[in-house]
Amino acid sequence: MNYIKLIKYIKKTKRNILNIIAASLAVCALTVFLSSCESIIAPVGDTKLPPAEGASGSVFESENVTAPPETEPPENNESGENEEKETEPESPESAPTSDSAAEAPDTSGDSPFGETHVEEEHLFGNYTPPTTEAETQSPPQPTYSPSYPASTNGTAPLALMYHLILDEPTSSLTNLFVRPSELEGHIQALLEAGYTFIFADEYDYYDTKTVIMSFDDGYVDNYTEMFPIIKKYNVKVTVFMIAGYIGGDGYMTRDMLREMSDSGLVSIQSHTESHPGLTSLSADSLRYEFDASRRELEEITGRKVRAVCYPSGRYNDTVLSVASEYYDFGYTTVSTTSTAGYPILALPRLRVNRGFSKSYFASMIP
Ligand SMILES: [Zn+2]
Repeated sequence: MNYIKLIKYIKKTKRNILNIIAASLAVCALTVFLSSCESIIAPVGDTKLPPAEGASGSVFESENVTAPPETEPPENNESGENEEKETEPESPESAPTSDSAAEAPDTSGDSPFGETHVEEEHLFGNYTPPTTEAETQSPPQPTYSPSYPASTNGTAPLALMYHLILDEPTSSLTNLFVRPSELEGHIQALLEAGYTFIFADEYDYYDTKTVIMSFDDGYVDNYTEMFPIIKKYNVKVTVFMIAGYIGGDGYMTRDMLREMSDSGLVSIQSHTESHPGLTSLSADSLRYEFDASRRELEEITGRKVRAVCYPSGRYNDTVLSVASEYYDFGYTTVSTTSTAGYPILALPRLRVNRGFSKSYFASMIP
């Protein structure tokens, strides 16, 4: 009798153990399922974390810059088309000539300026140099001589890059044609945000709430459209003039440059002599581009030229090293909202495109 009872007891216990194992397995399966759900959800939360400190994070802010303004959808299509169109036709290898004529747009007759470099400028000014070109260093941390201080305190000036200020684009590169009314909106937004306008050669990385508004190439509309606006608001801007293009079709004359400079509101700084791709030049050619342009502009304005803007944002260690012989400050086309963490000979500038409304612009600036 006792033996039978014992057998029954063992069987019962076995059933209980099996039940416990089954229950445990179920719990395990549930845990695995839940953790897999978490792993799907988790990355979304991670992306909301602020980027790691250091200069590299800021480069990727350029994504915000390329995002077309939400407020004006028609411009989005326009600019989107241009982006694609411009990146198609040329490979980076096709540009290393030092002759600006070779950079003439293939949209023949489209530009009123004849041989202009803006196609190339736009093509290569897109935040990151072409990776296929080994000689082009990827900002923000070039490996050249460390003797130039880099801003690290996080409060450095904001620099902005413009080209043309016109209502009606005269080439297919519509992004470059910021409307006069838009420029006015940007100035208003900056003033309302408490910014002080400084020249490119007044850069000081300990500044807070200062802005360097710069205009590349020296198109004639800078005189006819931009100059009246900045006088209206009494703000300081910088023109990076291609010295060899002065007086050329579509570009400002010596008299225009002198008048702007004499106003005390426009600083004329160098954008080289002939706007070549600097990374393909010899040191001697670089010296010519930097020195001749500086002398010519100083002769016109009677003021020091201490800042240079690299054509199409292309530079490498050699370019920076030679530039340091002539200039105190260098500006690139790396697009980001703060110059903090960048060397003063390779300072980034936020690219401002056509269609950036006042409110959109205000949302972009720190
Ligand atoms: Zn340019």
